[in-house]
Amino acid sequence: MGRAVVERCVEHLAKISDAPSCGDTASAELCRSLREAAPDEPSGLDPLLSLLFEELIPRSFTTPGPGYLAYIPGGGVYPAALADFIADATNRYTGVWAASPALVQLEANALEWLREWMHFPVGTAGLFTPGGSMATFNAILCARERHLGASIREGTLYTSDQAHHSIVKAAKLAGIFHDRVRVIPTDADFRMKVDALADAIAEDRRRGLRPFMVASSAGTTNTGAVDPLDEIADLCQREGLWHHIDGAYGAFFHLCPELQPLLSGLPRGDSLTLDPHKGMFLPYGTGALLVRDGNALRAVHSATAGYLPENQGEFYDPAQYGPELSRGFPGLRVWMAVKMFGAVRYRAAIAEKRALAVRAAEEVARIPGIVMDAWPQLSLFAFHVEGPALTTQAARNEATRRLMERVTARGRVMLTGCTVDGRHLARVCVLSFRTHQDRMTACVEDIAAEVAAILAEGPGDRTVA
Ligand SMILES: *Cc1c(COP(=O)(O)O)cnc(C)c1O
Repeated sequence: MGRAVVERCVEHLAKISDAPSCGDTASAELCRSLREAAPDEPSGLDPLLSLLFEELIPRSFTTPGPGYLAYIPGGGVYPAALADFIADATNRYTGVWAASPALVQLEANALEWLREWMHFPVGTAGLFTPGGSMATFNAILCARERHLGASIREGTLYTSDQAHHSIVKAAKLAGIFHDRVRVIPTDADFRMKVDALADAIAEDRRRGLRPFMVASSAGTTNTGAVDPLDEIADLCQREGLWHHIDGAYGAFFHLCPELQPLLSGLPRGDSLTLDPHKGMFLPYGTGALLVRDGNALRAVHSATAGYLPENQGEFYDPAQYGPELSRGFPGLRVWMAVKMFGAVRYRAAIAEKRALAVRAAEEVARIPGIVMDAWPQLSLFAFHVEGPALTTQAARNEATRRLMERVTARGRVMLTGCTVDGRHLARVCVLSFRTHQDRMTACVEDIAAEVAAILAEGPGDRTVA
């Protein structure tokens, strides 16, 4: 069975570059036909593999493919899949240290590597989570416990109008409702305005509320903007606030010494969300959190019970640092990928993604009809279409949307957009380990061809109607 599965996976990956980047997701009818009761009788493996690999897997975005430049690309490096297979097949218990001390040590090592790459100090604690959203949730819990105790309703949290929606969602899960979240405006480069942040904090203090946390972004999902992390750190220090940094997209650029200036101030965060399933090219299901004062994370989660081994202080103990008890073994996929590739190759791959984005942005900006709205601060840029016939915002938005749809329909790359202040922007985000210059050349070619066609056509029917 193992051989049959590996054979299918290898065959699938060998052809991943040829698959249309957007996949074929018009599958509502297929989904209806798949509904069935739990089978009474067992099935063989082969028909299930055929169903998965031939029918179902192709009906999805080709997220691990080289042309996936949409949203924030994921990864899917093969050693991580093997690590998951080993972890699942051997099924050792890594929720508490005492049950698998040596395996948990590998997870602790992997967290230490993240800490060192992010230049966080010794004493930092880490946690692997299913993704960035849950990392941010745990960070808000730490800040809330540290600063508010039981007085949750008085606490106010600050983030920017470009921040990922998971921050507001995590705040709500942590008991900080919408009416206590302040959305701070951003400047022309989509970075949080620190003076507006200071004003909002002062205003809340005047009203008798308790500002406790700023959640800044080290690379926004919309345009890749990095907030002025150093200035925000200074402000948080002066005001006694917890500074959380959402580095789900951008933090791993910090691995490259030459790119660290782009993320200046990142090591000063009180906590940092990371997404190894983005910037470390791992399969989905791996986020991570670093908390500078490791005791804060432990204080939130530490617990025990009469049926558990006694807590100990020398070694990392996952259940003492996170909300889960039984869980998978997320540390193994990180550990194995880093061991098998090495930090040097990671650095090279991450630097390559930025270089690809910078070059493509320069080329796209030269295409007649394209206006660049956000140059790559990291590896993401955003732009829109303008032309003499596109006289209204609605017409420009529609043309930009049409451009993305038509470039994506060509199959070589998949693009998605974002709406900022009523403006629709097309985005290109380079973060897949499989994306190289050949695919970026194709991307620029397809954008150029479709912009020319759209400008020749003038405003689309939808605008006229
Ligand atoms: C992806 C992303 C998140 C959410 O992380 P998940 O892993 O999807 O939960 C948060 N912030 C930013 C900037 C992201 O790119």
